This record gives sequence, structure tokens and C-alpha cells, in this order.
Amino acid sequence: MMPCIHCGACVPVCPKGLWPNQLYEALAQGDLARADALGLARCGACRACQEHCPSALPLTARFREGQKQALRWTVAKTQAAADAQQAAQRYEAREARLQAAEAEALEAKRQRRAEAKRRAEARRPAAEGADARQQAQRAALQRAMEKAQAEGREDDLARLTAALAALGDGP
Ligand code: SF4
Ligand code: SF4
Repeated sequence: MMPCIHCGACVPVCPKGLWPNQLYEALAQGDLARADALGLARCGACRACQEHCPSALPLTARFREGQKQALRWTVAKTQAAADAQQAAQRYEAREARLQAAEAEALEAKRQRRAEAKRRAEARRPAAEGADARQQAQRAALQRAMEKAQAEGREDDLARLTAALAALGDGP
């Protein structure tokens, strides 16, 4: 088998208006995209080009094999596109789940803080009330102690001192 001598004899005989020589070259280089662009799918395998080829190149057989390869290539490309689309959908769904979980966690945190603040505010008046009562008791005891001391009532003074000590130093 001789190489293509670029005589062009195959071109005018193609009933589909293809360029068999260029098609053959593209397939020989494994360039399915170029062969596809040159109209490989339209080849009817009529053998006209092959019969006029002085190099006796197996044009028709090569074109039929190329069509099978192109079909597999198209299927693979379609499958790859479908896989890519599914992967993109899975990625978007995962992102949406993560964002929702993050928003939920933030909302739960906000609610915990609000609840803690509400409880602290609810406790504050009671604590402040207790402090005020203790201060009043302490002041009353001190006044009673001063009076007991002035009047020389030692027993009362001891009792009042113990009561004041029992109250503690306060907050
Ligand atoms: S075999 Fe294909 S490329 Fe060759 S002449 Fe026929 S249709 Fe054209
Ligand atoms: S007829 Fe044969 S040798 Fe001539 S251009 Fe076509 S493929 Fe090449």
C-alpha cells in the first residue's frame, strides 16, 4: 500500500461532496473531531473514492471504522457531560445542605444567647432586692449595737455582734 500522493482523484467522485483524502488524513492522525467536522458521518461507504485511488488506500474501510469510533466518542462525550452535570448537581446540593446547617447553627446560637440574657435579666431584680435587704439589716444591727454599747448592755451587744457576723460581709 502506497501513501496518499495527494492526486485529488478521490474528491470529484464522492457523491456526498466529501474530501476523502482529508478525511483519511484526519483519521490517520486520530483526530476524530476534525473528521467529524469534515463530514465523516455523511460517508455512505460507496467505495467510489477507494476505486479511484491510485495508491489503493483502504479508504472506505477506514471511514467505516472511523464512524464507529466517532459514535463511541460521541457516546463517551455525552456520558461525560451527564456525569459532569450530576457531579455539579451533587456539589450544589451539598453546598445548600452546608449553608442550611450553618444557618441553623447560627440561629440556635442566637436563641441560646437570647435565652441566657433573658434569664440573667430575670435574676437581677431578685439579687438586687436581696442585697438591699441585707444592707438594711446590717445598718439596723449597727444602730442597735451603738445603742446597746451606749447603754452598757453587754449581753445585747454580744448577741447583736453575732447576728451581724452571721450576715457576712455582704456582696
Ligand atoms: S466511500 Fe464515502 S467518502 Fe468515499 S466516495 Fe463514497 S461517500 Fe464519498
Ligand atoms: S485518490 Fe488516493 S492518493 Fe489520490 S488524494 Fe485521494 S486518497 Fe490520496
